[in-house]
Amino acid sequence: MNNLNKHYEERVRPCIDLIDSLRSLGVEKDLALPAIAVIGDQSSGKSSVLEALSGVSLPRGNGIVTRCPLELRMKRRGEGEEWYGKITYQNHEEAIKGPANVDEKIREAQNKIAGGGVGISSKLISLEIASPDVPDLTLIDLPGITRVAVKGQPEDIGDQIKKLIKMFITKQETISLVVVPCSVDIATTEALKMAQEVDPDGERTLGILTKPDLVDKGTEETVIDIVHNEVIRLEKGYMIVKCRGQKEIAEKVSLTQAIERERAFFTSHAHFHTLYDDGHATVPKLAEKLTLELVHHIKKSLPRLEEQIDEKLAQTQAELERYGSGPPSDGPERLPYLIDKVTAFTQDAISLATGEELKCGEKLNVFSMLRREFKDWDAQLIHLAENFNKIEAEAEFYEETYRGRELPGFINYKTFESMVKRQIQKLEEPAVRKLRNVSDAVRQDFFKLAHHSFPALPNLMKRAKEKIEAINQEKQAIAESMLRTQFKMEMIVYTQDSLYRNSVADLKREEGVEQDEEQDEEQDEEEYKRKSTKFNREWSMMYCKDNHAALRALMFHLRAYYKSASQRLADQIPLVIRYQVLQESAAELQKEMLTMIQSQENLEFMLTEDFEVGSKRAALLSRLKRFKKARSYLVGF
Ligand code: GDP
Ligand code: MG
Repeated sequence: MNNLNKHYEERVRPCIDLIDSLRSLGVEKDLALPAIAVIGDQSSGKSSVLEALSGVSLPRGNGIVTRCPLELRMKRRGEGEEWYGKITYQNHEEAIKGPANVDEKIREAQNKIAGGGVGISSKLISLEIASPDVPDLTLIDLPGITRVAVKGQPEDIGDQIKKLIKMFITKQETISLVVVPCSVDIATTEALKMAQEVDPDGERTLGILTKPDLVDKGTEETVIDIVHNEVIRLEKGYMIVKCRGQKEIAEKVSLTQAIERERAFFTSHAHFHTLYDDGHATVPKLAEKLTLELVHHIKKSLPRLEEQIDEKLAQTQAELERYGSGPPSDGPERLPYLIDKVTAFTQDAISLATGEELKCGEKLNVFSMLRREFKDWDAQLIHLAENFNKIEAEAEFYEETYRGRELPGFINYKTFESMVKRQIQKLEEPAVRKLRNVSDAVRQDFFKLAHHSFPALPNLMKRAKEKIEAINQEKQAIAESMLRTQFKMEMIVYTQDSLYRNSVADLKREEGVEQDEEQDEEQDEEEYKRKSTKFNREWSMMYCKDNHAALRALMFHLRAYYKSASQRLADQIPLVIRYQVLQESAAELQKEMLTMIQSQENLEFMLTEDFEVGSKRAALLSRLKRFKKARSYLVGF
C-alpha cells in the first residue's frame, strides 16, 4: 500500500465511512467527494505525480502522452477482495484484467478517441478501479499545456487544451495541483495563472515542483524560496517531489522502490535536504498534505450535512411513533396493550365529537364541516322563503289551488294552514339529505381516526370500522325518524302567540310597514291614508273585499309564520343531526369497543399485526439506527 493510502486509512477513512453510510441514506450528494486534478506544461511530470499518489500505472513519457482527460475513480475494497477495473469512454465499456493492463487500455482508448497521432480530445476517459490497494478518491489527469502546435496538431491546440483544463479546475470540489519542473521559471507558468483565475485566493491550489534531480546547477536557492512560498504566494503553499525518470522506468524500478529512492535523494541533497527536513518534500509528504486537504473539504461540508441528518432523524422518529412499538409478544402484556389502544381510540372518538384535540395527533375538525353544512341548511330555508313569495303571490294560482266556496275577499284559516303545510313540507327532503351528507362526512372522519389509531393492527381496524359503519347507520336511521317526526309535528301549524306577534312586527319593519295592526285600527281614515305606505294601502284593501288584497294579506301572514317556523327548524334540524350522528354515535362506539375487548376470545385475532407494517417498522428502525450512527460519526468529528 502506498503512502496516500496509509494516510487515507488513518484520516480520510472515517470520512469515507461516514459518506458511505450517508450515501445509503441518500444525503451524500451534498457532500461531493473531492477530486484532485493536475495541470501543467507538457512533460512537467503530471502523470508521474498522479501515479505515485494512486499506485496505478498511467501512460507517461516524453511529448504529448495524455491526450484526453482521464478520470481515475478509485474505490477501496476490503482486504483480500479482488482487483476490479473498468474503462469507459464514448459508448465503449470494457473490463480490465489487471493493474498491468491499465496503461495499455488507456493508450488504446486515446487512440480511438483522439486518433493514433498527436491530436487531443476533450472527451473523457473514465477509469474505475476497485482494489484493497487504492484510496477512495478521484484523480484527473489532463493533457499538458503546449504553446506551439507540432506537426499533425491543429493551430489552436494550446487554446483547446486550456479550455479543457478550465472545465475541470472550475469545479469547487477539485483541488488543483499545479505541476512545475524545477528547471522552469515558475513566474512564466501558464498553469499557475489559470489556477489563480478560478481560485484567486489559492484555497484549493497547491504548487508541485518536480524533477529536482534535473535542477540547473546554481538555481537551487531559488527553488527553495519558491517552495517556501516566498516567490509567488499560494494559500496552500508548495511541495517538491521526485518521481521516476525515464531511465528508472526502463530499469523497472517499482513505485515502492521509487519512494525509497526519493527519500534518499532529498536527505542526501546538498541544498534540498532542508526542504525534506521542514516537511516540504517527497510524495509521501504530498500525500499527507492532500489528505489534510480532503479531510478539510469534507469537514467543511459537515455542518450542512448535520442539519439534514437531524431533519431526517426527526422525520423517521415521527413516522416510527405513528407505527407504535407493536403488540408485546409476552402473553400477559397483550390484553393491557389492546385495552390501551382501544381506550385511546374511544377517547379520541369522544374528543372528535366534542371538538377537542385528538391524542393520536391527527387533525380532524368535524365542527368546521358541521358549520359549513348547517350554514347551508340555513341558506336553504331563506331561499325557500324568497321563492314561495314569488310563486304563491300569483292570484290565479291561489284561485286554482286553494279557493273554495268563499266569496271574494274571504280568506279561510284552513287555506292559510294548508299553504303553510305545503311550504314546510318542501323542507323535509332537504333536511333528510342534509342528515345523510353530514352523517357520511362524520363517518369518514371516524374512519380516519380508526386508521390513525390502529395503523398496524388491520383486524382491530377492520372491527372498529365495522362498528363505526353499523352505529352510523343506526344513528342515522334514528335521526331520520326524528326529523320525519319533526316535520309531522310541523303539520300542526303552531307557534306561541307572543312569538308570532314578534314575527309579524319584525316582518312589517322589514317590509316597510311602520305601524302595528292594532294601532292602524285606532287611526282615523284620514290620518291612516296619509301615513300608510304602499304596503299598508294594499293591506287595508283587504277590508275592501278585494280578492287580490286579501291574498296579499294572506301572504303576509304566511311569511310571518314561515319566519318563526324556519327559525325553529334552523336550529332543530342541526341539533337532531349533531346529537345522533356525532354525540350518540361516539358514545355508542365507546361502549361497543370496550365491550368487545372484554370478551377476550378475539384477543389474538385483534392483535395480529399487519405483515407490511411489521416489516416497515423494522425498516424504519434500521433507518433510524443508521441515521443515529451517521449522527454519531458527525459528532465524533
Ligand atoms: P506529463 O506530460 O506532465 O504527464 O509528464 P509525465 O508524468 O508523463 O513525465 C514526463 C517525463 O518526465 C517522463 O519521462 C517521466 O519519467 C519524467 N519524470 C517525471 N518526474 C520526474 C522526476 O522527478 N525526475 C526525472 N528525472 N524525471 C521525471
Ligand atoms: Mg501526462
